[in-house]
Amino acid sequence: MRILAITNQKGGVGKTTSAVNLSAALAKLDQRVLLIDLDPQGNATTGCGIVKTDALPTVYQLLIGDTTLGGAIVKTEFGFDILPANRELAGAEIELIELDGREQRLKDALATVADQYDYVLIDCPPALNMLTVNALVASQSVMIPMQCEYYALEGLSDLVETLRKVRGNLNPNLEIEGLLRTMYNAQNTLTQQVSDELMNHFGDKVYETIIPRNVRLAEAPSYGKPATAYDAASKGAQAYVALAEELLARHAKAAA
Ligand code: ATP
Ligand code: MG
Repeated sequence: MRILAITNQKGGVGKTTSAVNLSAALAKLDQRVLLIDLDPQGNATTGCGIVKTDALPTVYQLLIGDTTLGGAIVKTEFGFDILPANRELAGAEIELIELDGREQRLKDALATVADQYDYVLIDCPPALNMLTVNALVASQSVMIPMQCEYYALEGLSDLVETLRKVRGNLNPNLEIEGLLRTMYNAQNTLTQQVSDELMNHFGDKVYETIIPRNVRLAEAPSYGKPATAYDAASKGAQAYVALAEELLARHAKAAA
């Protein structure tokens, strides 16, 4: 089982879109996938067609010890499972302070399903808070979606610093899995410049697959579907299938 945090403290860079569509694409490629919604906004949850009611057991109850992972996982229509979230999760930040092992509660819970999934993808909130720390401690690696804009690289240094701290005391083996260029517009020269700079800094950590700006990706969540189910032929859906293939090829190569 490979656990991957999809993270960037900058808001609106395509974390949730990537988490949902990559989950669906990996499932199409016969991988057993669990998607964890770790954001009180619950966008990944609704984006998979799950209705957020207050009665739903979520990742919040799991983190504070009120449910088991098995008690909260829901099957989606799209071939993968999800651990949902709703706005209750916003309270976890404070409640976790009181609890033992507050940084490893997600990691401990995931150990119970290690043989049930090939991939666990964690959709992080746009913050470097205790929820994100739980994701970083539970994960082997991080995927960083980013828009190739002027401030993108500046934000990256804060994230790289957080990863360094987490490696220092909580998860020494945490790696950068890859940087994903999202909402890409090849017509824009600034996009091209930032993209080049990214390649210079991070080399082959930058995925070859680029996610284009594509309206189908933005429309799909309002139908409660990944783009791969909403419009499989769209450029956006195809890009996430290509990303899933690139990811699997990289992992196969690393394992060989
Ligand atoms: P937050 O930080 O709030 O959690 P996020 O990083 O999860 O945001 P998303 O919610 O995935 O970002 O995307 C932000 C907005 O951009 C959404 O409205 C989404 O539908 C849209 N979007 C994401 N990727 C694309 C794309 N490749 N093309 C067009 N629209 C996109
Ligand atoms: Mg999000």
